[in-house]
Amino acid sequence: MDLCTIKRIFDETAYIRTGGSPEERKCAEYLAAQCAAFGCEATIEPFQVDMSTIAKAILTADGEEILCKGYLCAGNGNVEAPLYYLTDTSDYALSLCKGKVVMIDGYMGYWRYQDIFKNGAVGFITYDGNANYADHEMDQRELRKYVSQGNLIPGVNINAKDAIRMIEQGVETVSICLEQEEYTADSHNVVLDLPGEIDQYIVLTAHYDTTSLSQGAYDNMSGSVGLLAMAEHFSKVPHRYGLRFIWCGSEERGLLGAKAYCAAHEDALANIVLNVNLDMIGCIMGKFIACCTSEEKLVSYLQYFSSEVGFGCKAYQDVYSSDSTPFADKGIPAVSFARIAPPNTATIHNSYDTKAVMSPRQMAEDIHMIQSFLERMANAVRCPVAREMPDNMKEKLDEYLLRKRPKNA
Ligand SMILES: [Zn+2]
Repeated sequence: MDLCTIKRIFDETAYIRTGGSPEERKCAEYLAAQCAAFGCEATIEPFQVDMSTIAKAILTADGEEILCKGYLCAGNGNVEAPLYYLTDTSDYALSLCKGKVVMIDGYMGYWRYQDIFKNGAVGFITYDGNANYADHEMDQRELRKYVSQGNLIPGVNINAKDAIRMIEQGVETVSICLEQEEYTADSHNVVLDLPGEIDQYIVLTAHYDTTSLSQGAYDNMSGSVGLLAMAEHFSKVPHRYGLRFIWCGSEERGLLGAKAYCAAHEDALANIVLNVNLDMIGCIMGKFIACCTSEEKLVSYLQYFSSEVGFGCKAYQDVYSSDSTPFADKGIPAVSFARIAPPNTATIHNSYDTKAVMSPRQMAEDIHMIQSFLERMANAVRCPVAREMPDNMKEKLDEYLLRKRPKNA
């Protein structure tokens, strides 16, 4: 894939495409059309996702209205209560949540939500954006079903500047009024099979959906372009292992596309020997990493391999927060490739994630590295990576997938 094509795809996909939205569907069709352009027929596979339309979301702080976005799927509610800023998770700090609207830093994850709910919080506030930026943006967040477990209290997301002001001013009483209508819609995976000489597959994944403010050039049209480039390449050359390309929908909503694929194709998983996942490559600044959810030997192999081909790469063993994880949880060894940008050069999940942070030249180099690795694996006499998870990765998967509470959660 030449640099002009890479640039053109970033130009043509410079729009927000959240999981389950018509724009996400449009992008799925666009990716399938790109496959058709090099002579391959991809299939669009729908799967159901929860949706919600906010009718009303109002936050007041000591009577003053604060700009906010209501949490999707957090039900309907009308509460007025003292504000409590929760900064640690000791039993004592949590006990003070009772009867309060609780403000927290960062994302509302499962453990934090269950903690505040069980301790009697009646509402919650999160904040994002950057206090030092001129904008006043805030992400449209959702209370994921697996986070709430059906225990709903109303919540809103606000801008960091307002959060700081509320705490600085010592706001005493806040009210949240949240009304919404829930329904379901289809999100989509785009799947392209390039059969090999044997009936065993390497699966390549990259998500193409975005969060609510982001055009997602870096996160993750970059990886989606990487998959297109490799699909085009391997469609023209023979390979021993079959290659299955999956552009996943709704990753940003909790890896829903990869989870849906694994659930719908349980039988096919037995024939998958490896997952190669691309999530955020080709940015101008940053270091290239290979995160292996596999035996340690793949880490060593990738470290040697990158040196052999003269490419800077830091390989390590861990669970990557991306579409690789549902596959790894099925015992399929997985490696996620990414170029991690320093946060003062490119950020994600906000309106600054645009093609401006991308380098077509770096994209081509990153894709070439991944493709070189894939050439080896796809033509291996026998894929050398053990098809089982070592115990340390099983434990990390248990923590990531909420089956076990991490020590620092
Ligand atoms: Zn991503």
